[in-house]
Amino acid sequence: MSTNPPNLRPDLAPRARITDAPRPGQPLIGMVSLGCPKALVDSERILTRLRAEGYAISPDYAGADAVIVNTCGFLDSAKAESLEAIGEALNENGRVIVTGCLGAEPEYITGAHPSVLAVTGPHQYEQVLDAVHAAVPPDPDPFVDLLPAAGVKLTPRHYSYLKISEGCNHKCKFCIIPDMRGRLVSRPAHAIGREAEKLVGAGVRELLVISQDTSAYGVDIKHAEERGHRAHITDLARDLGSLGAWVRLHYVYPYPHVRNLIPLMAEAQENGGGVLPYLDIPFQHAHPDVLKRMARPAASAKTLDEIAAWRAACPDITLRSTFIVGYPGETEEEFQYLLDWMDEAKLDRVGCFQYENVEGARSNSLPDHVPDEVKQDRWNRFMEKAQAISEAKLQAKVGSVQQVIVDAVDAEGATCRTKADAPEIDGNLFIDEDFENLSPGDIVTVEVDEASEYDLWGRLV
Ligand code: SF4
Repeated sequence: MSTNPPNLRPDLAPRARITDAPRPGQPLIGMVSLGCPKALVDSERILTRLRAEGYAISPDYAGADAVIVNTCGFLDSAKAESLEAIGEALNENGRVIVTGCLGAEPEYITGAHPSVLAVTGPHQYEQVLDAVHAAVPPDPDPFVDLLPAAGVKLTPRHYSYLKISEGCNHKCKFCIIPDMRGRLVSRPAHAIGREAEKLVGAGVRELLVISQDTSAYGVDIKHAEERGHRAHITDLARDLGSLGAWVRLHYVYPYPHVRNLIPLMAEAQENGGGVLPYLDIPFQHAHPDVLKRMARPAASAKTLDEIAAWRAACPDITLRSTFIVGYPGETEEEFQYLLDWMDEAKLDRVGCFQYENVEGARSNSLPDHVPDEVKQDRWNRFMEKAQAISEAKLQAKVGSVQQVIVDAVDAEGATCRTKADAPEIDGNLFIDEDFENLSPGDIVTVEVDEASEYDLWGRLV
């Protein structure tokens, strides 16, 4: 899956580093965070704990007493990138603790880099902290090492990822995440609500809800109610939507109960906040036989009917998805079915991967692997169609009035996003006139006056 543009590759999300001025003698830990937004949340939690224990966070390798590398092991290319990052940290600093998805395969790491201090797997926060304590003993100062109200965040202050569960109960054949991360474990709804409240109280204006399977939230705990909060995605979305921030749902599968989320989005559109009319649904394919061969959840769902029902209830809904082309056994007819489905579905935002074997995935042993040149040809045809759809959809927004959130302001203008754009993976709306008084996190109203394939331009109204 190597030909997708980097900005659509969850495994190539930007490396995040944070800075923090240390007091004299304060132990310093560096962090390199690779991988998807879920890994970024893990890094934030580790750093929050370290910060609370009196460690400072080093902005570079040279000043750090040790460096944590939070790895990604989703694809072979991501594994190689993780090994490279570990090597770089060893060269630059020498004292390296490895954690994250690739940590589920410790011998893979120690085989390449035997001198790492410790290897821990995904979500083993306690073990990471133990490894840090062993490498660099803490030196807390209760008067100065106060934890920031919202913890340490690697994402800009005005938006934050909110992880609601971990692991996955499915067994999609191309995916090794359930082997690495285990079965679904949902966080209690009251704990998520408390974290969200703290984030919003600390200035966060947009919450990005993430998990491996957001629509399955609470299935493992039978949607139990605890402290007045039921662990179900509809209840959780309603609760989060009441906090006043934008709430964006990622990694939702087209289960029938997703229909119950759409009225919340339509309501929020009228009231100007809450659950955004945006669903990030990894369809991966449209042909029922390919979906069955992939062992996808909701493989038999009538997705076009679902999409039509969502749009009927909330006409402004934005649908983002990812697809795999060239899956083993995919025939030209099945691929053409996908293209025809795209013509009907008219998704707003689309990413596409060419199928690639991943070590340990069950799809590796399926018959009839598709030759590379056929995969490339299908990818080109798919992206051409997706781009044309995106361009037409954005063009149709010219002249409309939209609320946007400001991400950054520089001398040239303000970079913003509409409700239809998730950070890092979707497009932007640029304001290049009268932007001087804007600040990151502001939510303002603009009239769209220009569109390209992926981005919009507008002016304040
Ligand atoms: S739903 Fe499928 S692709 Fe997603 S994490 Fe679970 S097994 Fe992997």
